[in-house]
Amino acid sequence: MNRTVAIASILFAGITLAPFGSHVVADEQRLFGYSIESSRIERQWEEKLRAIPSLDNLRAYMQKLSTHPHHVGSPADKDNAEWIASKFKEFGLDTHIEQFDVLFPTPKERLVELVEGGPKFVAKLQEPAVYVNYGIPEDYEQLERMGVSVKGKIVIARYFHSWRGIKPKVAAEHGAVGCLIYSDPHEDGFVQGETYPAGAYRPPDGVQRGSVADMPFYPGDPLTPGVGATKDAKRLKVEDAPTITKIPVLPISYSDAQPLLAALTGRVAPEGWRGGLAITYHVGPGPAKVHLKVKSNWDIKPLYDVIGRIQGAAFPDEWVIRGNHHDGWVNGAEDPISGQVALMEEARALGELVKSGWKPKRTIIYCAWDGEEPGLLGSTEWAEQHYDELRAHAVAYINSDSNGRGYLEVAGSHTLEKFSNDIAREILDPETKSSAWKRQQLHEIANSKTAEQREEIRKRADLRIPALGSGSDYTAFLQHDGVASLNIGFGGEDNGGIYHSIYDDFYWYTHFSDTDFVYGRALAQTGGTAIMRLADADLLPFEFGNFADTVVTYLKELKTLSQKMQDDIIERNREIEDGVFNATNDPKRPLVPPSVEVVPPHLNFAPMENALDALARSAAEYRKALEQANANGGALLPSASLVEVNKMLIESERKLTNAEGLPNRPWFKHQLYAPGFYTGYGVKTVPAVREAIELKKWKLADEAIVVVARTLQDEAELISSAAAKLSRMIPRP
Ligand SMILES: [Zn+2]
Repeated sequence: MNRTVAIASILFAGITLAPFGSHVVADEQRLFGYSIESSRIERQWEEKLRAIPSLDNLRAYMQKLSTHPHHVGSPADKDNAEWIASKFKEFGLDTHIEQFDVLFPTPKERLVELVEGGPKFVAKLQEPAVYVNYGIPEDYEQLERMGVSVKGKIVIARYFHSWRGIKPKVAAEHGAVGCLIYSDPHEDGFVQGETYPAGAYRPPDGVQRGSVADMPFYPGDPLTPGVGATKDAKRLKVEDAPTITKIPVLPISYSDAQPLLAALTGRVAPEGWRGGLAITYHVGPGPAKVHLKVKSNWDIKPLYDVIGRIQGAAFPDEWVIRGNHHDGWVNGAEDPISGQVALMEEARALGELVKSGWKPKRTIIYCAWDGEEPGLLGSTEWAEQHYDELRAHAVAYINSDSNGRGYLEVAGSHTLEKFSNDIAREILDPETKSSAWKRQQLHEIANSKTAEQREEIRKRADLRIPALGSGSDYTAFLQHDGVASLNIGFGGEDNGGIYHSIYDDFYWYTHFSDTDFVYGRALAQTGGTAIMRLADADLLPFEFGNFADTVVTYLKELKTLSQKMQDDIIERNREIEDGVFNATNDPKRPLVPPSVEVVPPHLNFAPMENALDALARSAAEYRKALEQANANGGALLPSASLVEVNKMLIESERKLTNAEGLPNRPWFKHQLYAPGFYTGYGVKTVPAVREAIELKKWKLADEAIVVVARTLQDEAELISSAAAKLSRMIPRP
């Protein structure tokens, strides 16, 4: 970053902005939300914290926690929870285990048989198979053009391009009676690199386990939506639970999938559908017939969430929360223990600081969640059980999950974007020795597609962070409780193919990922610094300029999307009229022609435009008040007098939720971020509007625009009030 840019961005931001490489300058600057004096003290404590995490401890914890399979209901799951709790206690955290009781079906009988002709075997689920590529809605549109129906058939889909639970959901919606999901070597096997144990990628028998519950409808225990799964909770009957998959599903390896795929005939699969196996991929249906049988035990199993607390000295009722899950599918060294061990070293480091006199202003809560893998169970039940308290007290939630070598990846609430950039500037990348922030910035420049993007990355004071959908334990905090959340972790140079398989073990992790645990230490430094800085701030480091700027980009995307859908339909209707499809259709291999569609109406985005103007104005007011406060002799304001403003800042994420939730899924209350109903983990921003457009529900889209606009107007009002309150408190000369 050159000097002119640095100065400009300091003026723009008004507050802390340490350009890379200028640690001396950074030391003289105040931290965001701190006075000059409190910044000085905070920096000293943070530096102490970052020196504590130990590589040997990280390795030893991982070895201990990944020795045995530790899925929900297993002996090692309980042992691990108890061991983590004992360590938290040893570190000085006030610790308990909170138990929930959740539905956890386990297979009693699994069978996949290829039945080669012959009349003697007629089972209920013996159906012709169809290959559906990734099994996402677009794939079914293509199948329809090819004249292939999956009705009454068993589909075989490959992993990737959507969260796995979407595949059986979409298959069932199209009338399929069973679903097999396999890992094609094209995605994470020998096509990508050497396979385990010689290399990091998935061997022929590697199977990716994972939940296929309809989590985009609601995550957590299928039997207790919206409430904690305590002993006496009211439960749905299993047959009434709406998130349980409608058809039997099994994950299989490619060595099991290959004979099934090879036995399919019919049309040759389109180019983009072909994987890495040495076969010609056909779509089917049949003549291969598959017998698929899944029988489950529908047991209730205990979950053990480990909760450790450090009481806040000044504002004990303001909670800063940190979490990572401890359950794995099998040995789970990478997922989740690599993140869990970093969290444990943070807890130890914070405990050490407390022993040497550090008194965090706010209460800090460290959580090791159980049951993340089968459906974000432990964190969701806890966030549902403590809903009222969390709505009243939670400042922010910081999550991590798996960790590895590479870049610091941060995603989350845009009100914490500036804050998260500040933290990234403090962290040293252990292999390149540049700051994690700088490395990420250069990485983004290298990966940008346009000159405009590169220009923005070079000039904008902060790197943009992506929004969160779902896929880990932040979901209930952010989407249901409205707690500002971040997800952090290193990765990108740790690729492999052992995800959710028996090969994710200590050997794999210490040979192919963060072999010396230096990125584990960097994650502990990142999480620890972020928690401390939130816990100690005089004024909470929420910022609304970046937030408003980002929501404007969402509006632009929505307008482009609706325009494009209109243009595409107009063009396609015209081509149908021109006879394009009849002229280009191969008469010997004909496709079904597309049908004429009604041209979508124009949507009325005006309410959102007005709301975004109000949001930008309020963000500017808040920034101005902050600048005045900062100019006030370097003293900011005594934190006791900031209590009311901090309350409003905490409220700023709650305001983005509403009680009714999203139109088709009331559990999801956030109006800006949700996992896609048809993508799974991937985020849909402004979900009610975006998904209505994607599903061509135009009236619903117009209604959703009004709801989102009202939410943003309320948010703008809150930010304006916080700005007014802050500026009233600044003594006038
Ligand atoms: Zn995980």
